Amino acid sequence: MPKSRPLVRNPLFVFVPPIVLLALGFSLISQPGAFAPQHELVAQAINERRANQQPAQILPLAKFHQTRLATNQGGSDFVLVNKQRPLQPLNYKPVNLREIKSSKQLDNSRGLELSDQAATALERLATEMSAAGAGKLFVNSALRSFDYQQDLFKSKTAQYGLAGALIRSAKAGHSEHQTGLAVDVSVPAQGCAIMQCFGDTVGGKWLAANSWKFGFIIRYEEDTTSTTGYTYEPWHLRFVGLQLATEYSKSGMKTLEDFWGYPAAEFYLEEIDSSTSN
Ligand SMILES: [Zn+2]
Repeated sequence: MPKSRPLVRNPLFVFVPPIVLLALGFSLISQPGAFAPQHELVAQAINERRANQQPAQILPLAKFHQTRLATNQGGSDFVLVNKQRPLQPLNYKPVNLREIKSSKQLDNSRGLELSDQAATALERLATEMSAAGAGKLFVNSALRSFDYQQDLFKSKTAQYGLAGALIRSAKAGHSEHQTGLAVDVSVPAQGCAIMQCFGDTVGGKWLAANSWKFGFIIRYEEDTTSTTGYTYEPWHLRFVGLQLATEYSKSGMKTLEDFWGYPAAEFYLEEIDSSTSN
């Protein structure tokens, strides 16, 4: 661990060869506590902005080497969760949850919850979306607890078999929905709810073009399954904060894995182990 500390402080961190990034990624995963001081800076910045009622995130991305550390923290807007990066602990639960407010522009009749900053951002997004004539948003799914996700994965397995379940749903502890930062939406009046054709609707197109302005990204874009492990989900919005969403959309990258320089995670590690041993 001591060997990686100078790297973390080096402003050229972003540009070091991928192999070093990979090694650092593994060391971060194995010893996240070693970076607690930097994470406190991130947390402090987040809390200050919340106190001022500003959108949650933001450190300058020039401090990329610091913000990247927050990809390991469930409570960070930058957290990167995928099939190879489970939440820690597996049954992680966010602390700042609240119910998304229904309005003329936003239907949360299911009473679902998000982290406070993500809920606020979604409410603003829905207001703008409606004003733009792109439709009234319905919240299909938002926070999902560890237990809920476990049951969901079981039912998908019963419905589609294990292979089918693996590309449609996450195992508990591996879902972005467990962070309180991910939300599945639809526009019932336009059809295609939680279907890929949602991407072709007026609402789906508006979200793809504009959700970044509110701190969201379309997390599972077309043709990224080999990196994310999931098929195209134009309905799944992930809150990452305004600055990161802005940088991400400008970067032209299509996955958070690529953006942060983490390995592709099409499969769970145990799937890879079993396929190579069979
Ligand atoms: Zn989703």
